[in-house]
This record gives sequence, structure tokens and C-alpha cells, in this order.
Amino acid sequence: MKITAVRTMPIKIPFYKGEKWAGGTRYSAPSLIIQIETDEGFIGIGESVGPTIPVIQTVVDKEFAPFVVGRDPMELESILHRLEEYCVNWKQIGYYGMAGIEMALLDLRGKILNTPAYNLLGGKVKTEVAFVGYIFIDAPETNAEEARKFAAAGYTELKMKVGRDIDLDARRVKAVREAVGPAMKIRIDANQNWSVPTAIKAIRRMEKYDLQMVEQPTRYDDVDGMAAVARAVDVPIIADEGCATYEDALRLIDKRACACFLVYPSEAGGILKAKQIVDLANHAGIWCVTGSWAETGIGTLGNVHLVASSRNFPFANDTHLNFMTGDLLREQLAFHQGSIKVPDRPGFGIDLDLAKLELYGTDFEREMVFYDPKDPQFQPRIGQIL
Ligand SMILES: [Mg+2]
Repeated sequence: MKITAVRTMPIKIPFYKGEKWAGGTRYSAPSLIIQIETDEGFIGIGESVGPTIPVIQTVVDKEFAPFVVGRDPMELESILHRLEEYCVNWKQIGYYGMAGIEMALLDLRGKILNTPAYNLLGGKVKTEVAFVGYIFIDAPETNAEEARKFAAAGYTELKMKVGRDIDLDARRVKAVREAVGPAMKIRIDANQNWSVPTAIKAIRRMEKYDLQMVEQPTRYDDVDGMAAVARAVDVPIIADEGCATYEDALRLIDKRACACFLVYPSEAGGILKAKQIVDLANHAGIWCVTGSWAETGIGTLGNVHLVASSRNFPFANDTHLNFMTGDLLREQLAFHQGSIKVPDRPGFGIDLDLAKLELYGTDFEREMVFYDPKDPQFQPRIGQIL
């Protein structure tokens, strides 16, 4: 069997409301859908997400696809080795493209072997995967209302964006805690916006609302700084921006800088590489949750199979699906009590709706994940809030 084509389609799905966070406000989810075709009719589907879709599409179409077309789709390791070495000097952006290709190849393998992707990743550990109710920066009473809705729908864990204004954050967390009661787990994510002393002060101020964990309080590249925060407070720290690759994970373990990794197949270079980080974390006594660049249902199913086939995901994982006005799947993924049931169909179980792919398809259009296109004056102050 031979791969005959790698087809890409950039898409953009609008959000119901702007997602306001420390680094900007997002209004939609941009991504790149990848379809890998074979001469025997099998088609593998994957999704690349990341900071700049036009660049990722160019990487996939012009740089990576020539290494993939003509190959036997079963030779996954050999194909990925070639791509990885090829982008060794520009791997940060290369990995985003590689991740979508790898997902499509895994989907293809599952379809050829007529087995779900989790069986190619170690086998099923759980039958459903839990997700957080995501709460972005807004007025305390608005956030409290959102939290009540997630609680009523059966979610057991919430994730709140913080990091622009400590006084407002403290009032928001208090309002949410009072709205949902003591059983709900609440984690907060400062997206690197605090300095080390500010992080310690802010966490001490908010820990009385029983924080489950605090995500990336300080700069991604200051591992020593985050280790100092982790030693100073009792709330477990999650590394997000500081934990993109395997090498990052090794550094974080070496410095004992966090208790949990936020793992992204998109940033790690694919699901198999993400799984290597999860395995490493397991040996170091560190928990894992999956992060989200706002994947559609396609990338979400990739994360679902990763979590379902791993032993080290004790908490709810990230998703932006609740903010999206549509999806690319024929049937939208359903959350039951905050969880998605792991599909048992071949590959990732992706039922792509080609009409929706057309509908959300977009041209090379810049979509700012950071900053705020509606507020040109806004500038994030990474690590600068004192
Ligand atoms: Mg984060």
C-alpha cells in the first residue's frame, strides 16, 4: 500500500464569546485539517493546531508532504524519523505540522488494521475521558453563573483563566467557589503573567478557596523561578508553556519545578511523542493532563485516545469545544457529566463531515491567538505583573 496524497485545509470556527485570558482575547479556533490518502482507498485524518496556521500549512504542504507521498503508511517510525531530522533546526514550528501528519498516519493504521487507535497506543485504560469546564476572564457574577451551569451539567473540575488583575481574580475565584460549593475542583491558569514574588503572593491570597492546582504562574523559560514558586506554596503547580517537548519535561523534572505537566500532542510533535512525556512523568511521580490550542472534534478525539490509553491522567483535561459554534464531525461530540465516551470505531473514530469542512474552510487568513484584534492597545505583560 502506498500513500498517494497529503491534503490540507485550513479552517476557522467562531466562538460563542471572546475568550479573554492573560495574553489576549480569542474569537475563534483556527486549525489545519490533514487528510492522507492511499492507493487502496483508505484515508487517514489528522489535525494540526498551533500559533500560526498559514506557516504550519506551508510546512506540511511544501516541506513534509514530499517525504510522505509514496511511502507505505505502516512505516510510521521511519517516516516520523525523517520528518524529525529534517526540521531539527526549526523544530518548534515543525512539530506542529508533524503532529497533524502523525495523527493522520495513526488514523490510517487503525483503519487498515480495523482497530481503534487506542489499541495502537497501549490499549484502553478508561472508557471515558473527563474534561474541565473552562472559565475565561469576565465579571465575578458572570463567571459564577458559568460555573453553576457546568456544575449542573455534571462537570467536576473547572479551570479559570487569571493573571491580568489579582484583585479581580481573587473576587472571581471567590464568587465561583461560593457558586459551586466545596466538592468542585477549581484550578487557575496565569499563563506566565506573574513575576515570582507576585505568583507567591497571589497564590497565598487565593489558596483559601481550595485551589486544585495553579498553571504556569511564571515565565515559561524561568524553570528556577517556577521551582521557587513550587517550594513556597502548598498548591501544586502545573507546567504549561514551559512543557512543550520531551527536553522541557526533563528540565522541569531536574529542577522539581512542578507537580503536573500539561501535555499537548500538537507541541510535542504528535501523540506518540506526547506519550513519551507521559511515560517520563509517570517515572518521575508527576501527573499529566492534556492541554488544548482549541482543537476541533478531530484533534479532541486524538487527545481522547491518548488519555484513554495512558495510566497517568488522573484529572479532567482541557477543551474549548464548549465555546465553539460548530464542528467538523457529522455528529458533534457529546459531553456526559463532563466526559466524552471513547469511540470504538477503527482509527480515532472520526466521522468527518465534508460539507462542514467546506463551510468552515478559510483562506490563508491571519488569526491572532495572542493579543486582541478588537483592542489594539492591549499588550500582554508576561512575567511583569509585580
Ligand atoms: Mg495554560
